[in-house]
Amino acid sequence: MFSLMRESALQELHYCQKGDLNAVIALHNLRLGPALGGCRFIEYDNEQDAVIDAIRLAKGMSYKAALAKVPQGGGKSVIIKPKGAFDRERLFYQFAEFVSDLGGRYITAMDSGTQVEDMDCIREVCPFVSSSSELGDPSPSTAIGVALGIKTAVQHRMGQSLKGVRVGIQGLGHVGAALAEHLYAEGAKLWVSDIDAQKVKQAEQQWQATAVAPHEISGIELDVFSPCGLGGTINAQTVDTLKCVVVAGCANNQLAESALGDVLHDKHILYAPDYVINSGGLIYASSRYRGLAQKEIDHSISKLKDTLDKIFMLSNNKNLPTHRIANEMAEQILYD
Ligand code: NAD
Repeated sequence: MFSLMRESALQELHYCQKGDLNAVIALHNLRLGPALGGCRFIEYDNEQDAVIDAIRLAKGMSYKAALAKVPQGGGKSVIIKPKGAFDRERLFYQFAEFVSDLGGRYITAMDSGTQVEDMDCIREVCPFVSSSSELGDPSPSTAIGVALGIKTAVQHRMGQSLKGVRVGIQGLGHVGAALAEHLYAEGAKLWVSDIDAQKVKQAEQQWQATAVAPHEISGIELDVFSPCGLGGTINAQTVDTLKCVVVAGCANNQLAESALGDVLHDKHILYAPDYVINSGGLIYASSRYRGLAQKEIDHSISKLKDTLDKIFMLSNNKNLPTHRIANEMAEQILYD
């Protein structure tokens, strides 16, 4: 366990076992402030996978906060979803006590498998929660940041606005659907896929999008491929099929492994590092938690463009992949 922590430079790992609750809170780096990161509530094949997930995600949050200039550290929690029947409210009350015990050094939020009702439940007994129904859903802010990021990447690689640019969106969930709306309003042409046929149908009607089968979207002739579903979309199978010039979407951990970012660079595909382009949601959650006004949130999200411009420029000048440039920039903030 300690070697796992050392490899990721993770500072603290907290465990809680109480009734049905089997939970982990990973705190990666608290240099910039208390850690803020979502609570994942999914089934795992084994306990080790859950711990590794929490560590990997917590590290990502440190890097995300550093480059988004948010005064938060990186943390994440995982609750292993029980396989049989369980009392959901009771489970989240117990989790809230676990978060409370850390005295505000970890602020929780929504993530895969958790919903706003769970956050409201936590908030009844613990103030360290940032995405309750009172504070609002961060997804619209994530989508604004991703649309701005795609615009910035297209300007760099294609030297033009979004008008007529062909974008393929994989996943029309909370962020993907809002992103489609923004891109359509800017004149982009959309190709979409989702495992939920109803969402695809809606996109065809609302944004004149062309429907594509989920396993085909990454390989069709496009200008921009935008992964907005699950992570790992850029993997050993898909990377050679890509025909786009930009990869830019909201999904976390888009590269199944870091070396695939090098492959994208060699193929002259401009990759907008996921934790940079999708940081609008963190900016929103942190700002709302700290009581900032919408004007300040909008201003912070607009700064994403400057960060991406800098990453793309340095990548160009040094002939290095964008994900490596982003990691270097974040590590300078976290460790220098
Ligand atoms: P969501 O669950 O609302 O949407 C995901 C969508 O992807 C769903 O419509 C689902 O049906 C679809 N999908 C799943 N597998 C698919 C496949 N193989 N092919 C096509 N579609 C598929 O999630 P969300 O909140 O929109 O988040 C999307 C991604 O962005 C996640 O990886 C999340 O971690 C990341 N993210 C979200 C936020 C946020 O503010 N919500 C912030 C940062 C990062």
